[in-house]
Amino acid sequence: MKPVEFFEELNKEDVDIAGGKGANLGELTQAGIPVPPGFVITSRTYDQFMKETGIFDEVMDILDSLDVNNNQELQQAARNIKNIINETGIPDHIETIIIEAYNALCHRIGREDAYVAVRSSATAEDLPEASFAGQQDTYLNVRGEDDLLKYVRKCWASLFGARAIFYREENNFDHSKVYIAVVIQEMVEAEKAGVMFTVHPSTGEEKILIEAAWGLGEAVVSGTVTPDTIWVDKDTGEIIDYQVSEKNILFQRNPEAGNTVKIPVPEDLKNKKVLSSLEIAELTQLGKRIQEHYDFPQDTEWAIEEGKVYMLQSRPVTTLGKISGEDEAEQEEVERIIITKGLGASPGMASGQVKIIKDTDELDKIQKGNILVTVMTTPDMVPAMKRANGIITDEGGVTCHAAIVSRELGIPCVVGTGDATKILKENTVVTLDGNKGLIYQGKIIEESDHKDEDKDKPTIVQQSILTVTEVKVNVSMPEAAKKASETGADGVGLLRTEHMMLTTGVHPKKFIIEGNEDELIKVLVENILKVADAFYPKPVWYRTLDAPTDEFKSLKGGEGEPYEHNPMLGWRGIRRELDEPEILKAEFKAIKKLHEQGYTNIGIMLPLVQHPDELRQAKKIAREVGLKPQKNIEFGVMVETPAAAMIIEDFIAEGLDFVSFGTNDLTQYTLAIDRNNENVADLYTEKHPAVLKLIERVIKECNKAGVKTSICGQAGSMPSIVEKLVELGITSVSANTDAVATVREVVARVEKKLLLKAARKIMQE
Ligand code: PEP
Ligand code: MG
Repeated sequence: MKPVEFFEELNKEDVDIAGGKGANLGELTQAGIPVPPGFVITSRTYDQFMKETGIFDEVMDILDSLDVNNNQELQQAARNIKNIINETGIPDHIETIIIEAYNALCHRIGREDAYVAVRSSATAEDLPEASFAGQQDTYLNVRGEDDLLKYVRKCWASLFGARAIFYREENNFDHSKVYIAVVIQEMVEAEKAGVMFTVHPSTGEEKILIEAAWGLGEAVVSGTVTPDTIWVDKDTGEIIDYQVSEKNILFQRNPEAGNTVKIPVPEDLKNKKVLSSLEIAELTQLGKRIQEHYDFPQDTEWAIEEGKVYMLQSRPVTTLGKISGEDEAEQEEVERIIITKGLGASPGMASGQVKIIKDTDELDKIQKGNILVTVMTTPDMVPAMKRANGIITDEGGVTCHAAIVSRELGIPCVVGTGDATKILKENTVVTLDGNKGLIYQGKIIEESDHKDEDKDKPTIVQQSILTVTEVKVNVSMPEAAKKASETGADGVGLLRTEHMMLTTGVHPKKFIIEGNEDELIKVLVENILKVADAFYPKPVWYRTLDAPTDEFKSLKGGEGEPYEHNPMLGWRGIRRELDEPEILKAEFKAIKKLHEQGYTNIGIMLPLVQHPDELRQAKKIAREVGLKPQKNIEFGVMVETPAAAMIIEDFIAEGLDFVSFGTNDLTQYTLAIDRNNENVADLYTEKHPAVLKLIERVIKECNKAGVKTSICGQAGSMPSIVEKLVELGITSVSANTDAVATVREVVARVEKKLLLKAARKIMQE
């Protein structure tokens, strides 16, 4: 392995020496794709530097004696290691090789002391990205030998950020076996740049999506400007649609200081098309070649300098929607015979063999691709739900367990059929339509599978629209957090606890009674960490436990759960937690631990409050475990009872940072309709004027008092309600993963309308 390798010498197999980024740039170069030239300082060079200078042992000694659970110690150790690396001279023979390679690159570019980008490139593909935990750095516009060597060391040091050390330690990854490479690449001074998907990023259709803006690509990637959006037919190359947007800002290199600056776009370019037809054709050709080369749809970044197109980056498209059904090609289209109906609870079509689950010990019969049919899903069914192509239940409304989980998993689902477990026959093939709530006989190949409006929105659109009202996402399953974060959401407006607690199979009280509080805390820390990490540093509002007694019964230790006639009105939410403060305490202790590890992005939200006394008592318990509500941690309540909405002023007087509308419950309690009872489901609507009136008064009172407002019930995913909430001045909206893109667009549209209205009013005055 050589100390440096030029891109021409690398390919995708070289991840261990060149890191993921370096290997990928080598692969593209070798495939003849125009990539700005550059080289990689290999992982071996990092290793040599650490060992020859003797700092390897010094660093390992610091790590050996470190208690990563002591946050101060952890932060200090990370700082010390970084200082050691940044301040240790690179051995002459290594320095010479790096400088020679830089000079060779400058010669090739035709400029002395050329500007380059210096990027760290993680080498261990088999380790989760989190083991490098966002600590990998990129330095743009680096110029000259001294600066180059300085930033190379910074990239090496980025391997020892506090979060990366913590993560490796917690997951037993050996610090001495993690290496890092550094990519050095010519900086392209782009006149125009953007991204390109070689298929429709959410449906996989054979269309190319290009987003383009003036200046460097950062403007598009960071979402600072709304770029032009261009759709191209991949087969014919025909431009299907060119949406020109108003581009107010561009990024460019400051010629004096060499840094990147934001400047206003000249008036004549603001509303001008960024790309000519020729450039679009060239990009399309390149996109097709790259996809062909990798044999998989690609998500790329490109730039154009002096009329020449460069590809800067290419990775597999990870946002493609799930295509349901087994072997579609083999299937014949069949006549549509509806067998039964329910409520469409998670969009999409799915076909497969029916497996009826009467008891949880039958779950093993669900194989990949089956349709799971049951009276109502429970948390212990989730592993089987993940294997299923689709889910059908007898009971439930659109906010029941089956609906929430399947939306998060992206699996089509129909709930509340009333009779599916009786009418459907084991092992027969059916197709379900999760939009319309219909179950058809046999397998139907549905051309419009993904054509419903919401699914049609590409993920990239969300990243490029800026809104003042934050658009967040709801998470119930920590394992789905990464997917949720890829929507570009501004944080998690609701992290439900029930799933993570119930999947232990053990009643939380049993942990406490048997003296295993630590174990319970560990489960919580592990699960919450996944979400806090995926979204860091964006806020994550952890909602304390809210499980009705019937959901706890089947757990080990749950035998003593009381029987309740109506669990929805029973012992759940904050009222139960105040009766059993040990569980609440364990939750708070878990959050305290995470706070100490640097995850200060976590806030606390209390469910089902009906009196400010409950807020006061919960804050007291939080203080007892060392948290400081409203000082070092955001603290808020859900508005789910008409009582809370009617006396929100008293909650504000008690003190809180935010409220969030739990419209699933607020609707059931305002209208006296059990949200899980399919017999009254047709009367259940969040749009009822009484529900909207309660929401309106809460937003008004909170805005007066400077308390943040949000929504995390299902209504937060409904465009018509979101529209109204933005008009009322809500601070954020938290939607389901599959609705974030649409909600972001709705919010942007309403905000624009409000701005125009305000501007007109000012002009008239
Ligand atoms: C709600 O009630 O709207 C809510 C978000 O909480 P859950 O659905 O978990 O009761
Ligand atoms: Mg609720």
